[in-house]
Amino acid sequence: MKKRLKLKKTVWFIFIIILFLSLGLYAGLHIYQDYKYKQTINYKLLEYGYNPNEVEELLKVFNTKEEQEYLLNIKQNSQIISLIQEKYFIKNNFKDYLTYLEENKNLELKEIIRNVNIHLNHNFYEYDLKTDDSLEELMLVNKYYYLSSEYNPDDLVTVSQKYAWGDVGSKKVRQVAYDAFLNMWNAAYQDGYYLMINSAYRTFAEQESLYENRKKTDGIIIADKMAARSGYSEHQTGLAMDIFSKYNSNQKTFGSTEEANWLKNNAYKYGFILRYPLGLEKITGYEYEPWHYRYVGIKAATYIYENNITFEEYYAYFIENS
Ligand SMILES: [Zn+2]
Repeated sequence: MKKRLKLKKTVWFIFIIILFLSLGLYAGLHIYQDYKYKQTINYKLLEYGYNPNEVEELLKVFNTKEEQEYLLNIKQNSQIISLIQEKYFIKNNFKDYLTYLEENKNLELKEIIRNVNIHLNHNFYEYDLKTDDSLEELMLVNKYYYLSSEYNPDDLVTVSQKYAWGDVGSKKVRQVAYDAFLNMWNAAYQDGYYLMINSAYRTFAEQESLYENRKKTDGIIIADKMAARSGYSEHQTGLAMDIFSKYNSNQKTFGSTEEANWLKNNAYKYGFILRYPLGLEKITGYEYEPWHYRYVGIKAATYIYENNITFEEYYAYFIENS
């Protein structure tokens, strides 16, 4: 009897020990899992105040450990979700967006994105980038991107005097741009308009003297608004043309002619864009030039026309950071 009772007690004792061990193990595991979860980026972002959908969206964009750590270090920023949802958001520019945003709180997020994308967070001519001329018709030349003095397109053709003013044979453009121009010229002619080229390819040296002359007569501020410094002119690409009508080649009045209007609304069909539109001087760096057309190819021209953006914006999003 006594022996059985003792055995019973021992069984109970072992049972209770096992029970406690199991409970301890279970609790320990739970605490450990909880600790692990609290170390995850998901948990930390939720703690920062993002909702689960936003967390998902953030992790889709910031998918490396380094990027996620950066994200945690900037703490809760109420504008981050809106920033990444902007149409032309470029991840590589994220840090620059935040810096620029800090300095320009009056701007809309759309403008923050655009300005940083096209390098407007730097002053014109103070942030030099070499133009990638291997991009051919998609190369960008502006007040940041420049061509060397040696750059000369090797497929220049002479524009027929039928379409050009000036000395015979003096107007040249690249073959691809000339072919497109002829198609456009014919279409305009069908519609009753006679287009004429006033200026086309310019060498580095020609641009230099043009700019220097401007500077001498009007001063540097006006000169920079009206003409490019040498190396920074699109005319050196052989893809830009100043197009007027046969009956009006006046820079002051051409913009209000039917030809200017026709060009504005049809040039993209032939691969040309109005390069310096009205009201976008701050973006392009140039005053409105209703005559200055640039060949970029039909695909890019159509996108730029339909989405009402500049070549700078297109280049930043689709070429520079694609
Ligand atoms: Zn021009």
